[in-house]
Amino acid sequence: MCDAPGDVQLFVGGEYAASTGDERYPVTSPATGECIGSVPVPTAADIDSAVAAARSAQRAWGRRNVWERARVCHAVGDALSARAEELATLQTLEQGKPLRESRDDVAEAATLFHLHAEDAVRLTGETIPSTDANKRMWTFYRPVGTWAIITPWNFPLLMFAEFVAPGLATGNAHVVKPPAHTPFTVLAAMGALADAGVPEGLVNVLPGEGPTGAALVGHPGVDAVGFIGSSATGAKIQATAGLKRSIMECSGNGPLVVLPDADLERAAEAAVYGAYVCSGQVCCATERVIVDAAVHSDFVDAVLAAADGVRLGDPFDPATNLGPLNNEGVAAKMDRHVGDGDRRGAKLLRGGRRQPDRPTELYYELTVVDGVAPDSLFATEESFGPVVPIMAADGDDAILELANRDRLGLQAAVFTRDLSRAYRFVEELETGQVVVNDSTCWWDINMPFGGAGGRGTGWGRIGGKHTLLGMTDLRTGAIQL
Ligand code: NAD
Repeated sequence: MCDAPGDVQLFVGGEYAASTGDERYPVTSPATGECIGSVPVPTAADIDSAVAAARSAQRAWGRRNVWERARVCHAVGDALSARAEELATLQTLEQGKPLRESRDDVAEAATLFHLHAEDAVRLTGETIPSTDANKRMWTFYRPVGTWAIITPWNFPLLMFAEFVAPGLATGNAHVVKPPAHTPFTVLAAMGALADAGVPEGLVNVLPGEGPTGAALVGHPGVDAVGFIGSSATGAKIQATAGLKRSIMECSGNGPLVVLPDADLERAAEAAVYGAYVCSGQVCCATERVIVDAAVHSDFVDAVLAAADGVRLGDPFDPATNLGPLNNEGVAAKMDRHVGDGDRRGAKLLRGGRRQPDRPTELYYELTVVDGVAPDSLFATEESFGPVVPIMAADGDDAILELANRDRLGLQAAVFTRDLSRAYRFVEELETGQVVVNDSTCWWDINMPFGGAGGRGTGWGRIGGKHTLLGMTDLRTGAIQL
């Protein structure tokens, strides 16, 4: 087992701490295939220590005034920015995405700490009129307590910040479990949190796999769960969490819709962008493109032209905009979806294979498939890879019916120049968010982002003040005069 880049430990109680066990996970770079280090497999005793540290720290932190908490959050944002290049480099090494994307992720993570610091000081309750002239009622927000934060590997630092920034700002404590194969960016970021004066124990990190996450979620000292990951895992976590508070951000298979009056070039560029950013390993990536039959052939030509601008390669090369996939599981899923599409008569127009002569077998070519059948894996499951799967339908009603057939309605996009049509699609597409005239893969840190009810994509919202509301309890006070 190699130990570069450093003999990495857990982060518990404000410091890098050795595990009480001696089992370790190796970590391999998807870009180079080299072993880049190892992390301990957390034991039950490690989980107990992290939860105890969090609970103890939270009691004092929850009582600090919001301006003090906001000052610390601003300091974290500054400290992350100060280490931006180190963090971005580590993230690209362990995750595989192009360095320029990692730089954007670090900048966005830092901004989240500033944003939530500012949101928290404006989080006000209300005074509520009573039916009794001698009663007064009012509401305010209290931290929930200690959160288990379970994150995925596609945005290691950003997903950490999406929960920890609002959680800290509102007085919560956290035990974070990143996946064991992308642990280093978050562990390195803990140095920035310590530099910024985050009190010991408020944020603990235990990298690990499913069993560590399950033990953490079910731990009696954990009050609430923040999860970002697949719908299948989300369902298991919710079964373990029982009545604990939860925010669940799960898989997506949202459609990108192209209506006949759309700017086809713009729509094609957006479809391709949503397939190559983070190698399509994004919950709101281009998963299904549904184009009106009247413009289908022109749109396909435009997609192929846009795809010519994609450069697959070394993620540290500034010319690269498509890096390797993160792991063999995702690459195998792409192979499976391409094979299934082929069996069901789809036309492979580009890519559909791993590029040979690369340092690993994870370099997947940007893939364009046309004539995708509605019951194929491309259409019914999240592909989570660099692919633009195209289907045609005749008219708005048929497009809506096809678009809403799949349950994973997280985020959709619609391209049209007609305002009334845009409104109709925003209202009738069954997804959490609908973007008009931009990629499904567009978001803003101030945008409430999450799944549509009953669609298997989770609940709760990440973004802006909505995460603060999700990570706090609305407390009501009532006084008899
Ligand atoms: P995953 O579900 O395999 O794992 C997510 C996390 O859960 C990991 O840390 C994993 O170790 C942990 N885990 C696995 N089993 C567990 C269990 N039984 N109990 C507790 N924790 C457990 O997902 P992934 O492959 O890491 O990430 C990709 C998925 O994440 C995609 O489906 C993607 O759409 C989704 N995602 C969603 C959003 C969103 O905002 N909705 C954002 C990013 C990613």
